[in-house]
Formats: sequence, C-alpha cells, structure tokens
Amino acid sequence: VLDDPIRTVSGGASAKAFADGLGLETVGDLLRHFPRRYAVRGELTDLAELRVDEEATVMAEVAATKLYPMKNRPGWVLEVVVTDGRGRLKLTFFGKQKRQLEWRERQLRVGRHGLFAGKVGSFKGVRQLTHPEYLLVGDAGGAGDAGGDPDDLDESAADAAAAFARRLIPVYPATKVLTTWKIAKAVAPVLDTMGELPDPLPAPLRERHGFPSLSESFELVHRPASEEDWRRAMRRFVFEEAYVLQVELARRRARAAMLPAVPRVPAPDGALAAFDRRLPFQLTEGQQAVGMQLAADLAREHPMHRLLQGEVGSGKTVVALRAMLAVVDAGGQAALLAPTEVLAQQHYRSLHALLGPLAEQGMLGGADVGTRVTLLTGSQAASTRRRALLEAAGGEAGIVVGTHALLEERVQFADLGLVVVDEQHRFGVEQRSALAAKGVTPPHVLVMTATPIPRTIAMTVFGDLDVSTLTELPAGRSPIATHVVPTGEKPHYLERAWERVREEVGAGHQVYIVCPRIGGDDQGDVQDEGFDASVDDPDEPEGSAEGGSAPPRPLLAVLDVAPMLTAGPLAGLRLEVLHGRMPSEAKDDVMQRFAAGAVDVLVATTVVEVGVDVANATGMVVMDADRFGVSQLHQLRGRVGRGTAAGLCLLVTDLEPGTPGRSRLDAVAATDDGFELARVDLESRREGDVLGATQSGRRSSLRRLRVLRDEEVIQQARVEATELVERDPDLADHPALRAAVAVYVDDEQSEYLEKA
Ligand code: ADP
Ligand code: MG
Repeated sequence: VLDDPIRTVSGGASAKAFADGLGLETVGDLLRHFPRRYAVRGELTDLAELRVDEEATVMAEVAATKLYPMKNRPGWVLEVVVTDGRGRLKLTFFGKQKRQLEWRERQLRVGRHGLFAGKVGSFKGVRQLTHPEYLLVGDAGGAGDAGGDPDDLDESAADAAAAFARRLIPVYPATKVLTTWKIAKAVAPVLDTMGELPDPLPAPLRERHGFPSLSESFELVHRPASEEDWRRAMRRFVFEEAYVLQVELARRRARAAMLPAVPRVPAPDGALAAFDRRLPFQLTEGQQAVGMQLAADLAREHPMHRLLQGEVGSGKTVVALRAMLAVVDAGGQAALLAPTEVLAQQHYRSLHALLGPLAEQGMLGGADVGTRVTLLTGSQAASTRRRALLEAAGGEAGIVVGTHALLEERVQFADLGLVVVDEQHRFGVEQRSALAAKGVTPPHVLVMTATPIPRTIAMTVFGDLDVSTLTELPAGRSPIATHVVPTGEKPHYLERAWERVREEVGAGHQVYIVCPRIGGDDQGDVQDEGFDASVDDPDEPEGSAEGGSAPPRPLLAVLDVAPMLTAGPLAGLRLEVLHGRMPSEAKDDVMQRFAAGAVDVLVATTVVEVGVDVANATGMVVMDADRFGVSQLHQLRGRVGRGTAAGLCLLVTDLEPGTPGRSRLDAVAATDDGFELARVDLESRREGDVLGATQSGRRSSLRRLRVLRDEEVIQQARVEATELVERDPDLADHPALRAAVAVYVDDEQSEYLEKA
C-alpha cells in the first residue's frame, strides 16, 4: 500500500499538485507528511505569529464584513476581518457582480469560526489574505459550512462535518492548491483502508518502549483524539528515524569489523623508539592513553576506523605521527592527508622538524632507523611529483604527506598500512572505500578533527567510527583573550585594535588578520581553499535573518584591507597576504617566511583556519567576524597562543548587541571550551545541515530527529540497533526494517551524488 502512487488516493489531477508542491509521490509519502501542528476546536490561532509571505492556515473568528463597489473600476470587494481575540487579519475577495460575493458574506457571518488558508500579504501595513480558501466550523458539527466556490460546496461539506467533529484539527504544511483540509481528505481513506502495515520496528522492541504500531501511529498522528495521542505517535516516529539510522551504522561497523587488515606490530627499537627519545617534551597523559589505544587497534586483524578529536593545540599531530612510525616499524607505509595544500606543506615541514634525521633515511646524514617523509600534492612540478610517486610506489617513502590528491587512482603505494586524515570531519564512507582499494587489504584509518563533536553527533554522523578524545592541552600553554570589537557602537575601537597589533609586533610577535573574502573579482564571501564548510559554515546572512532593509555592504576582503593597512594604521610593518587564489609556491613562500619570523602581519582568508602552527604568532584580528561560524572562529583563534606568550584575538563586527550574530561572537569571547562552543554552534544552525540531510529532501529519513533534543533517543536507538544487528546482521528476519534502511541509504547516496 505504502508504495502505491499517490494518485490512487488523490485522483490524477491533484497527484501532480502533491508531487510538485509537496514532493509527495507515494501513499507512504502522504502518510509521512505529518501535521505541522493541530488547531484546537474553539481555540484561535495567535495571529501575531503570522509572517508576511508565508502560506498560513489559521483558526479565527469573523469579526466584521463589508461589501462595497470598487472605486475606479467596475466590480465589488468583500472585506472580512477575522480575529483571534486580539489581533486582526483582513480577508479580501473580489467579484464582478455583487451577487457573486453576497453568498459569501452570508456565510462569513460575524461570530463564525473557521480555518482560513492563504499566503499572508501586507497592504498598507495591514496583514491580509487575498481570496483565501476557508472552511467554516459548524456550530454543532453541522454540514454546509464549506467555503470555496459554490460548486465545490457539496464536496467539502461532508468532510467538514467529519473533520470538525474532532477536537484536534491537523494543520498540514500546505500549498495554495493543496489546502490543509484537502490533504486531510486524501489521508482519511488511506487510514480507513490500510489495515495493519508492515512495521520497521520489531514488535518486541515496540513493547519494551511502549510504542504504538506503524498503522496505529499513522492514525494517531493524523486523527488524534488528544494531544497525548499525537505525542505518542511522534515519539515513535522520532525513535524510528534514529533506529533506522543506527541500524545502518551498526551494519557498517559490523561489515568493517569483518574486513581483513594486516596487523601492524612495530619491531622494537625502531623509528618510534628513536622518535620518543628525541621528543623535546613530555607527552601528556591523554596523548599517552590515545597512543596505547591506537597501538592496540593497529595490532588487530581488522582495520581501525577511529576518530581522534582534540582541542585546537592539544597535540594531535604527535599522536598521529607516533602511530605512523609504528606502522613504518612494522614494515608498512602511512599516508597523512590534509585538507589544503598550505596545510600539507606545513605538515611536511613540521614532520621533518619533529623527526629530524629520522625523516631522511637513506640520505646523507640520515639516521639508520627512520624512514623517508615525502610530499605529494597536485600542484608540484612534474618532475618532483614523479619522484614522489615513485617513492610512494616503491616503498622508500614510509610517510607520504599530501592533500586529497593522494586518493587519486594513479597514486600507488607499496604497502599502505595507515591513513591519517587531518582536520576533516567528513571523511566519508566513499573516500574510505577509495582508500581501501589502494592496498591488498584495507588500511587502518585515523580521522582527526579539532572541531569538538558533541556526543550525539559522534553517534550519528560518525556513528561508524570509534572515538578517542584529547581533552587536556600540553602544560605551559597560555590562555587566549578574546574580545569583540563593535565598530557599530564604538568606531574608535578599531583604531585601538590596530594599535594592539603594533604593540604585539613591537614586542617581537606576529599577527594574523583574517578577512572573509579574497577580493578582486570574487563576489560573495568565500570559504577559501575548499575547507569542509558544512560544519563550520556561517549561518544565513545576517541581512535576511534580521530582515534588514539596507543593502548589505560588501564584506571586507584581503586584497582591500592589506593596502589600506599598509598605507595607514600598520604603515612600516612587514605585511603580506595569503589566500587560496595565489599559486601554491607563492603561498608556501609566504607561509615559510611568516613561520621564520620574516613577516610581521599576515592578512589572510580562512586558509589559516586549521592546523597552521606558528608559535610566535600571538595576535589575531578577524574582520567581519560575524560572517564566520562559531566553531570556525574557535579554530581560527587556535592559531594564536600556541607558544608561551599570551594570545589575543579580536573579533571585529558592526552588528548591534543582541542580534543573533553578535550573540554568537559574545559566546566565542566568553569561553574557550570547544565543546561548549560546538553546542552553541549546533543550537544556532538548522540541524539538517549538521546531519547533512536536505531539509526539503523528499523522503529524507532524518526529518524529525533533533540531535540535541533527542540525545537520549539516539542513545537508546543505538543500543537497540547494535543488539539487533548482532543477532540478524542481514536483517533477514526483519524485511520491513530492511526496506526502511534501504530507503535511508538511497537518500544518503543521492544526497552524496548531488553534492559531488
Ligand atoms: P593540534 O591538536 O591542534 O593539531 P598540534 O599537533 O599542531 O595541535 O600541536 C600544537 C603544538 O604543541 C605543536 O607545536 C606541538 O609540537 C606541540 N606539542 C604537542 N604535544 C605537546 C606536549 N605534550 N608538550 C608540549 N608541546 C606539545
Ligand atoms: Mg593539527
């Protein structure tokens, strides 16, 4: 029944309206098109909540009517004012002849209640609906109250009686053609005839949790007798979403756990031991604990799939490097993937610095134990790249550092044992399988991120990874002071900011200035260099959120700000620019000179967002800071205060206090706890983005689950799902569940394709 095309219940003509307007194609889609809310018979909708341009359905009472001829043209106007007891809304109907409107006027008697649906407009500051569809509520549930044209009166009349005999009237997300009561009308016969449907939730599970069956839940959500009815049904549907997702994730984990992998047990007294001896600092307790975890994973006969999360600056690189050395000592190779070329180059340099002679085995001056660290990027000169490819394929390079270009098919490894993915939250199944194809057996995989991931996200987005966390920072780190610089209220604060920059430089330190745009010919704001913007994306432009009317000024750009500073407030300082449109040698050159202290001020885009590690940089000024996401700002400021001198981060904005954008900045200034900020971030954005589910997605399974609100549900679903998949890995005994999981996987796949 659920897979039947919707026209079997709606008729051919409205099937198109269902598909085009609401994206509903099957009977199942229709049943899962849940009411947005429920109007309560006798209770009026708060009219103050209406927003211009929205398609609204309101329960209101007729307060006044007026029928009058048009002033400048032939024709008549019927004006009806409806009220919720406080606010008012005007309904306007036009007609050529008076009698076309008279019957309506008789219908819409003062004091009658009804549902009125249409697009909210505004005329001379008064909100109104023009030619709304409406359905009057019978005084005693009586028939004959339907609105619309006289000829479809009889059609709706019977439904009106049925629908309004109930206390709770479902209000569906509707369109102009498909009013909420037309949707209810299509749903009713399905409910009446569907019988018992196959249920993706196993019966014992439903019993344990007290969930109604699928059929019963549809009945409860579409025709509730009480609030408790639909709430009970919704609890079930939310759980079902979480459960289907967790079953899929449990299956992925189970499949991954079955894959063979080469255990990598390091030979004693190899490069790892030599490295530990030359480490200039003591590993933190967290680094040691995670190191043991990784060693245990690597020694298993199944591939590791682990996420290492840790605050900015918590020292993830060293942890990863030790794991890579273990693999090298076991005779294998490791690859380190960075999200950008700048970062790949920096990793390459810092691995060399950390390893010293250990990174140059086989070369003059290299140590006996050790390996070779090779850089491989897309923009290398052909000859360099060819040599790097050979070293990877021949096995001389124990560690290959690069961007995602390493995933290309042409890159071959002699014996790839471990892949480390740095600063990437979305290293998906697809990339992992691309990698798996590179070895005889799939390599072990370690994904690292400094964006702290709340537990529920870890259980959903990363549900198929094991998670390790580094919570402490190495001792001796200095705190970063963050301040908001509100140029709206206090324009002179900006001058003070530039003075502070001069002071930092005067004290021998260096400063980043970050702008949201490159400038030149680019238009909007850029997320430079293809960082994964999906988690760190700034929210919607402030203009639209606040309904501001002034045209937005263009965002500050690197190529405009740099000359302005050189000519003015920062004259005389050694200032350079860095952005993603520069050729990669130029970027590399600037970064190297900045790292060497030959540049005082770096005006850059978000290319410096992750991983860049220059201990002497103590200051950062973020221009148009409100354009960046909370987690992104936290990442950015992690670039300063990496040494022993105190860090300073100034967030420049012209947003007024109290606006959502400004509040986010205040939150960033108020705490340096990344987990706390990840929560703020999550709360301030549409959660669909977090889960990567298209909100409007037609059948996207993740529609009702809210990762923060439903933490408990997700946890329970995970336990249940894991248990079920252990018993029935192929879901052979659970066909309805298997079908639901297939739909979810389908959606996910098509989303992935859309994004690609
Ligand atoms: P992130 O976790 O942000 O990637 P990094 O790995 O870049 O952090 O480490 C930040 C800095 O801290 C590096 O310069 C690194 O050498 C240094 N570091 C790492 N571990 C320690 C430690 N245990 N003690 C002191 N410094 C450390
Ligand atoms: Mg790092």
